[in-house]
Amino acid sequence: MVGSEGKLAEVKARISAAAEQSGREPSAIRLIAVSKTFEPNEIEPVLRAGHGDFGENRVQEARRKWPGLRASYPGIQLHLIGRLQTNKVRDAVAVADAIHTLDNDKLGAEIAKEIARQGRRPTLLVQVNTGREAQKAGIASDQAAAFVKRCRETHGLTIDGLMCIPPADTDPAPHFSMLSHLAGELDLVLLSMGMSDDFETAIRCGATHVRVGSAIFGQRASPVG
Ligand SMILES: *Cc1c(COP(=O)(O)O)cnc(C)c1O
Repeated sequence: MVGSEGKLAEVKARISAAAEQSGREPSAIRLIAVSKTFEPNEIEPVLRAGHGDFGENRVQEARRKWPGLRASYPGIQLHLIGRLQTNKVRDAVAVADAIHTLDNDKLGAEIAKEIARQGRRPTLLVQVNTGREAQKAGIASDQAAAFVKRCRETHGLTIDGLMCIPPADTDPAPHFSMLSHLAGELDLVLLSMGMSDDFETAIRCGATHVRVGSAIFGQRASPVG
């Protein structure tokens, strides 16, 4: 059986191949190893392999797991990729180096307040609901430009990029292309898109950050959004 450090190497090789096929530098793509639901002892082989970017979708889980791991492995970048509630923003700004899921004004205002209070500015990405799914987080595509403008002008935030999760069981490529196009129009450099099943497609569409969990750590015991 291949351990998680072996699977990490396989995913990295696939990222390099996909980048080269589309004429991109492999180093232009950052691999976020999504460690949600996995315990520190399961994450450590990937840390020992020298990997530095990790993703969690729950603030409380990140706060429980990562301070200890960070103490042993300096230089970690922790990405918050799950839906963020306003009452968790203080903890989120304290623990995360990047927040990928900014999608409403209340959140924007609260994040701005915490950045000022803590003197700590995580990288910020706006999540776009490219599939217009009622149950999914993210700002609607046709409202994204106005929202990014409000983040900048009303909330005084620096927005660094866009993120999306295409609907399950559809071709993700049109969603990735739409996000890439939107980012270009808004002068945003970072594109967080692509998961275990579709990261190569995302790279062909311009992803700068891919969020890969199960292809590295194995199947999660229970599905977590
Ligand atoms: C869980 C999760 C991932 C990783 O999913 P895999 O299919 O296990 O690679 C990526 N992005 C988000 C937002 C997630 O919640």
